[in-house]
Amino acid sequence: MAHSKERYLFRKKLKELSGMKGQGTELITIYIPPNYQVSEITNKLREEAGQAMNIKSKQTRKSVTSAIERLIHALKNMKKPPANGLVLFSGNLNDKVVLFSIEPPEPVPIQTYRCDSSFFLDPLWDMLKTDEVYGLLIVDRREATLAMLRGKKVDIIKSMGSQVPGKHRAGGQSSVRFERLIEIAAHEWFKKVGELANKSFEPEEVKGVILGGPGPTKHEFLNGDFLSNIVKGKIVGIIDTSYTDEFGIRELVQKSGSIMEGLEIVQEKKLLDKFFMEAATGGLATYGEKEVRDALVMGKVDTLLLSEDLSWKRVKFVCPQCGAEKEMTVKGNIPIVRCDKENSEMQVSVEKDFVEELAEIAEQMGSKIEIISTDTPEGEQFLKGFGGIGALLRFK
Ligand SMILES: [Zn+2]
Repeated sequence: MAHSKERYLFRKKLKELSGMKGQGTELITIYIPPNYQVSEITNKLREEAGQAMNIKSKQTRKSVTSAIERLIHALKNMKKPPANGLVLFSGNLNDKVVLFSIEPPEPVPIQTYRCDSSFFLDPLWDMLKTDEVYGLLIVDRREATLAMLRGKKVDIIKSMGSQVPGKHRAGGQSSVRFERLIEIAAHEWFKKVGELANKSFEPEEVKGVILGGPGPTKHEFLNGDFLSNIVKGKIVGIIDTSYTDEFGIRELVQKSGSIMEGLEIVQEKKLLDKFFMEAATGGLATYGEKEVRDALVMGKVDTLLLSEDLSWKRVKFVCPQCGAEKEMTVKGNIPIVRCDKENSEMQVSVEKDFVEELAEIAEQMGSKIEIISTDTPEGEQFLKGFGGIGALLRFK
């Protein structure tokens, strides 16, 4: 999970946006895919502004119109969308027209305009489901399709047809000889599929391989000598599919969601079990904010573990009179902090998300970062028993 911090920040933003509710149907979301004409979006917004004139409630009409104006304004100086496209949010929240934008970690898949009582976030949540890479392989005796699943995106590597003859032999051929020809052709076919699978799925970025196909052929293929041990070791699921082409790949993706979710949970559980064991035996682990922070800056941390449910802030204060600075972790509302010299009220100079701040130090020190969910009993225990802050150490 190399992009753990980015995922965390993206997820946090989505959580914030999903908590925002409009008074009526007045929160607008627009999805702009990469390479989309910005002028087309602006034209669409103008059309929507025209239609908004028909809204009966005066308050809603006013809110929608101002939100659309705000969006048009935001797009005014944009020549083209960012590399992955753009999602914009606007609407009236507590009598203020707000504007938010997200450049998602994966390409925006659709162009859409939504006006609702909450922001439309489903395609963005989908991007969070997994950011890992899986190899997909469907094989039978007639056809094989290989693909790569990156997050939610499927890239077909190749679809191949075989030369293996069907079961019906031509008249005059001896059945034994014919069977033998079939087996030779099938062997060659499997070899060809195996070679491409090895080349595609051996690289380290591929976390797992899911094998599919109709009937027993996939098992025959797997048990044969066609896949390398590296690829065989990566097989995390075998699934029956009705098709062997691109439709089959879609089928495979639909049916393998729980396998991949399960894998992420298993990885997290393994990591936490190791942490619990080390912590309990006084081994290479530490926890608690001060201990972990000290270990981090001393370069002792191999893997930093942070619960995603930590909603703290790291705040810097500065004294307006003498310029003295103070820094502290804040777990609720920001308190009033006074300068030690003149007792004057200090001002907030920097306010940062706590997890983000620690993750930045970890990045500088070359420590790995794992954001721990609270979806499992182990994740809960990590938050409640260890304060949600821990580290596996390189040395003590
Ligand atoms: Zn001062």
